[in-house]
Amino acid sequence: MPDQRFQSQKAKHTEIPRPKRAEGQWSFGFTEPLNKNEQSKKDDDPLNVRARIINIYSKRGFASIDPADLRGRFRWMGLYTQRAPGFDGGKTAMLEEEELDDEFFMLRVRSDGRLLTGEAVRTLGTIGIDFARDTADVTDRENIQYHWIRVEDVPEIWDRLDAAGLSSLEACGDSPRPFLGSPVAGVAADEIIDGTSALEEIFDRFIGDPDFSNFPRKFKTALTGHPGHDVSPETNDISFVGTVHPEHGPGFDLWVGGGLSTNPMLAAKMGVWIPLDEVADAWAAVASVFRDYGYRRLRSRARLKFLVADWGIEKFREVVEKEYLGRELVSCESPASPVGHRDHIGVHDQKDGLKYVGIAPTAGRVSGTLLVQLADLIDEYGVAGARLTPYQKIVLIGVRPEIVEELVTRLDAIGLSARPSNWRRNTMACTGIEYCKLAIVDTKERARSLVGELEQRFPELDVPITVNVNGCPNACARTQVADIGLKGQLVMHDGQQVEGFQVHLGGATGLQANFGRKLRAHKVTSAGLDDYVTAVVTNYLVDRVDAEGAEVESFAT
Ligand code: SF4
Repeated sequence: MPDQRFQSQKAKHTEIPRPKRAEGQWSFGFTEPLNKNEQSKKDDDPLNVRARIINIYSKRGFASIDPADLRGRFRWMGLYTQRAPGFDGGKTAMLEEEELDDEFFMLRVRSDGRLLTGEAVRTLGTIGIDFARDTADVTDRENIQYHWIRVEDVPEIWDRLDAAGLSSLEACGDSPRPFLGSPVAGVAADEIIDGTSALEEIFDRFIGDPDFSNFPRKFKTALTGHPGHDVSPETNDISFVGTVHPEHGPGFDLWVGGGLSTNPMLAAKMGVWIPLDEVADAWAAVASVFRDYGYRRLRSRARLKFLVADWGIEKFREVVEKEYLGRELVSCESPASPVGHRDHIGVHDQKDGLKYVGIAPTAGRVSGTLLVQLADLIDEYGVAGARLTPYQKIVLIGVRPEIVEELVTRLDAIGLSARPSNWRRNTMACTGIEYCKLAIVDTKERARSLVGELEQRFPELDVPITVNVNGCPNACARTQVADIGLKGQLVMHDGQQVEGFQVHLGGATGLQANFGRKLRAHKVTSAGLDDYVTAVVTNYLVDRVDAEGAEVESFAT
């Protein structure tokens, strides 16, 4: 139910006709739960499960966990049952999600664009070693994700995270999911505005707040003041993007309703200017619109993008202003879309004379041991810290120029290259069948072997070609906005169903933002992926010189 405190703050100004068909929107009085997810959230605020984990489940073990907590509310704590071993993609399609449950958990730790000190990176690494069989992946939402977590160990893990200023709170669930912040906030020489304080304010005010713990579905936030739009703002539910107003100076435009999965939509640009100290209020206003007007009847239509698409951006803005902010936003032309890399890989100048160094694990796979090694280097070389990126990469901040080359060599020696191949740099992969219950195919290992093979076949590639490998249609690794987007599914081969991918070609963000083309014939078996990508790239390289000999600018064209 909507919170009374909030209801009293809400002004009733906007004329919005009550929809003919009940979509389960609270603002129209549809407060009776219309599906089991909504019922579970109404039965008990998911935030309350934290106390049960600490006081009951961690002491009595996996078998003691209430199923409604296990498959629902645990997600608000960043905990998600992982896939039991032994089920292939074919069995996945035939079983209920519960039947794939293992007694171990995935645990997602949010970084929210924060600078991770050497101590924090060491904490993340030792948790992986001590409790997660040395797993630790860098996700494309700037999280560290562990596997093989036992519920008995969760309180100890939370204590260690707390001590390092880290949290798994609301890292999953119908909640304010982990924020994407610019990995170079506050240091990049070409930054428009540093949004660090705004993200911190949103976290401090609203994460763990029961007023914002029950959205219709997940709510993804991105914020950047970098001109390279380095947080994939087109694909988040709410994005604040650095812009300059001709009179007021630097601030943020507001984009809403982006999201991929099975009905991909790019965010709509509001065309406003919001000063740094008003970002958190604007976030709360948009989040409130989503909570109160979002569709709760069908999970498949519950993301904010469907509401924005139905209303249009003008009406959405009007509701934000009149019903929640109580004032009009300042109009401003939306910032120009950038071209080029967004990942900050390599060595770059900071505005204070120091350097930042972007390094590339392959497809986001690291380990607890590797994070401890990284922490050792951060401490040894006096580096300020590390930030995670939306491209499954890591950026070291505050590196003294005189030690950069030595540090880059040491990083390379542990598998974290600052000068990776195009393939290592531009390939991402979601969790996949190794641990994800929704997966149909393997992704991480497939991506790693693909990278190795393509490095052999195209060692001198001079154009960045992005490859995003996804284990199912949910597009956690952003299938539709890669040059080569791969969506895991079963495909027919020699009369049998085998692991494979539907291919999306020519997707992009930035200046050429569009979704990749999905052609019925563009399916490939997992085993045939190396040769398929080789053929696509070879054809592209042959075709990119047009009749006049002019080079085509990018793969997406
Ligand atoms: Fe799991 Fe599918 Fe998301 Fe991959 S895209 S992590 S398989 S839900």
